[in-house]
Amino acid sequence: QGQLVCVGTGVQLAGQVGQLTVSYIELADVVFSLVPDGFTDRWLSTLNADVRSLQGYYAQPGEIKNRRDTYQQMVDAMLVEVRANKRVVCALYGHPGVFSCVSHLAITQAKQQGFKAKMLAGVSAEACLWADLGIDPGSCGHQSYEATQFMLYQHVPNPCAHLVLWQIALAGEHTLTKFSTTKQRLHILVEHLLQWYPIDHQVIIYEAANLAVQSPRIEHIALADLPDARLTTISTLLIPPQQALALNPAMLAKLGISEMDLG
Ligand code: SAM
Repeated sequence: QGQLVCVGTGVQLAGQVGQLTVSYIELADVVFSLVPDGFTDRWLSTLNADVRSLQGYYAQPGEIKNRRDTYQQMVDAMLVEVRANKRVVCALYGHPGVFSCVSHLAITQAKQQGFKAKMLAGVSAEACLWADLGIDPGSCGHQSYEATQFMLYQHVPNPCAHLVLWQIALAGEHTLTKFSTTKQRLHILVEHLLQWYPIDHQVIIYEAANLAVQSPRIEHIALADLPDARLTTISTLLIPPQQALALNPAMLAKLGISEMDLG
């Protein structure tokens, strides 16, 4: 009986995968990969003889292709092998199900077709961000949005918490056909953020290192400078809190405690 297991390769080459993930990769009949570089594909090939990159489904130079079509073609390629009763592994970088729809689509469709399918957790870019920036997101809470979704929908950031904007290099790119945005759209994002943050608020462009020999990119800039910043497909924007946490006096009263009772 065919089956599908989606695993994460972590962000840093070979060093952020658990033993269970490695075993699934080793024991698979076929491994489909979507990873950031050839190094990771080569590492996967040391674990399994049949590793097939899904990168070729993205638009080729000169081609205009909606990423929704790309993702469905990737899923179709994997499900052909599941229906051929193979043990299929889909190895995606980071956490396979965080800001990544291919694994969710593939698992849903495999199950609809009567096959076993599941996901193993991986180390996401956000997990690396908290480690590299030395921030405990639990200290004041955090919100995490895809940058374009943050712009298009009525998300309201909490200025007392950390705000993480994924795919910042694509902010406002709604066509799903391009891999970059424009300065004008980044200006619109900054203008939107000014409802909650001052123009000189310090934000961080973060890029986790893909290789152990590299250092992460941690660039502090003023919010005003975002449109001119160098943004890449692996950039994530962290907007630190702008205000201290404020107590909820109504809740304290309900609980029968005062500020003095808090540790
Ligand atoms: N599934 C991936 C994960 O768990 O990290 C996320 C995939 S999402 C489609 C791509 C976005 O993840 C990028 O635009 C960026 O926001 C973030 N990202 C990917 N690689 C990164 C890196 N090395 N450093 C920081 N952020 C990264």
